[in-house]
Amino acid sequence: MKIMKFGGTSVGSPERLLALVDIIKNSEPKIVVLSAMSGTTNELVEITRSLYKKENEHAEKLIDSLETKYSAVIDATLKEKSTHEKGLELITFHFEYLRSFTRDLFTLNEERAVLAQGELLSTAIFQLLLEEKHIKSVLLPALNFMRINQNGEPDMPFIADFLKAELGKCRGESLFITQGYICRNAFGEIDNLQRGGSDYTATIIGAVLQATEIQIWTDIDGMHNNDPRVVNNTYPLAELSFDEAAELAYFGAKILHPTCILPARNRNIPVRLLNTLDSEAPGTLITANKPTEGIRAVAAKDGITAIKIKSGRMLMAYGFLRAVFEVFERYHKPIDMITTSEVAVSITIDNDSELDHIVDELRAFGAVEVNTSLSIVSIVGLFPAAKPGYANTIFAALREIPVHMISYGGSENNISILVETKLKNETLQALNKGLFNL
Ligand code: ADP
Ligand code: ASP
Ligand code: MG
Repeated sequence: MKIMKFGGTSVGSPERLLALVDIIKNSEPKIVVLSAMSGTTNELVEITRSLYKKENEHAEKLIDSLETKYSAVIDATLKEKSTHEKGLELITFHFEYLRSFTRDLFTLNEERAVLAQGELLSTAIFQLLLEEKHIKSVLLPALNFMRINQNGEPDMPFIADFLKAELGKCRGESLFITQGYICRNAFGEIDNLQRGGSDYTATIIGAVLQATEIQIWTDIDGMHNNDPRVVNNTYPLAELSFDEAAELAYFGAKILHPTCILPARNRNIPVRLLNTLDSEAPGTLITANKPTEGIRAVAAKDGITAIKIKSGRMLMAYGFLRAVFEVFERYHKPIDMITTSEVAVSITIDNDSELDHIVDELRAFGAVEVNTSLSIVSIVGLFPAAKPGYANTIFAALREIPVHMISYGGSENNISILVETKLKNETLQALNKGLFNL
C-alpha cells in the first residue's frame, strides 16, 4: 500500500483536480490524503476570527464569498447532471453549517469544527469527480480513526485499530480517499494536527499500515537547499536522511509539517517529495540511508522569543538549570535553543503564550531579559565534530549579520543561529552565497 498526500495547490483549482485524477488512477493500492483547496484554511481562519469578535455580518460576507468560489469549482469540474447536483447539494450543506455559527455561541470547539470544513469539502468534491469518471473509490472518514491524545500527540494504537477496522470493511478495494489535517482529540471532539498537518496525517497512516512508501505531492520539485520564497537560485536535493529532513522540517522548511518525519522514521518508511506541477521530476527521497558529510540545506523558523536569566546563583552551582527548565515544563513549552555562560542562561521558545507568567516565575532566579521577533536559522547536514572548517565557513558567510545566539555541537546534523527576524532574508541570502556559491 502506498500513501499519496496532495497539498492545497494540488487540489486548488478545477484543472489541478482533473490532473490529480490522472496521477492516481492506476490500479496500485493506495490511500490518497487530501488537504483543503489552497487558501481555504486561511479563509476559514478569517471566518473564525470574525465569529470570535461577534462580527457576524462580516463573517457571513466571508462565508458567502467562499461559497461562490466553491460553486464555481463545482460548475467547472462536475459536468454530468447527477454529480453536478450532488456537488451543489454538498456545497449548500457545508456552507449552511458554517452559517449556523453566526447564530450561536462561538468557542474553541466551534472553531475547530469550522477549520475542518476545508478538508471535508475537498475530499467530497474529489470523490464526486472520481464518480463522474467511473473510477471506484472509498472514503475513509478521518474523524473515524485519526485521533490525538491529551498531549496533542497522535494516538498510534487507536489510529491503527480504527483505521484497520475501516479498511477491513472494504476488502478488495484499492483506492481510498481521506482527509488530511483533521482528527478527534482525547475527548472525541473535532480537532486538527496544526497548520500544514496533512503531511502528518499521511506519515501517521503510512506508519500504522507499514506502507511501502509515503508520497508528499506539492507545488515544488522536492526539498530545496534553501527557502525558495526568500532566496533565488535554490536547487532540489535528490536524497535526504530522515534526520536531516526532520531537522529541516522542524526548523522551518514549510514543505513539510514540523514533526511529520517522525512516524516514517520510526517505521523506516521512505518518504518521497514530488511535484504535481511536474510529475516526472525526481523530487526528494527521504530514507534511513546515512547522509554524506557536508552542508546540505538551510531553513528558518520565525516567531522565536529568547529569554535570558542572569544570576549570581548560577556561579559554581548545581541544580540551577533544572529549576529553570522546570518552569518551562510546567507551562508545556518546548525549548528550541539554549546557551549558557558562567552567569547567565539563554533559552528560546517558539510560542510566547503565557510568557508573562513564565517571566514572573523566572524572576525568582535573577534578572530576566526577553527578546521577541527573532528567527532561528538552521544549517543542516552532517558535520562530524572532529572535522575542522565548518564553523569558519558558516561564520565567514555571516560576517555582516549580527548573531544573537549560536548552537553548535548539539547534534552532528544541525548548527543553529538566532537572528532578528528583520534580518532573516539577508541571512538566508548570505548563507546561499557563502555555503553553496549561489
Ligand atoms: P502544500 O500546500 O502542498 O502542503 P506548502 O505550501 O505547505 O504546500 O509547502 C510547499 C512550499 O514550501 C513551496 O511552495 C515552497 O515555497 C515552500 N518551501 C519553504 N522552504 C522550502 C524548501 N527548503 N524546499 C522546498 N520548498 C520550500
Ligand atoms: N489545510 C491545512 C492547512 O492549510 C492542512 C494542510 O494543508 O496541510 O494548514
Ligand atoms: Mg503543507
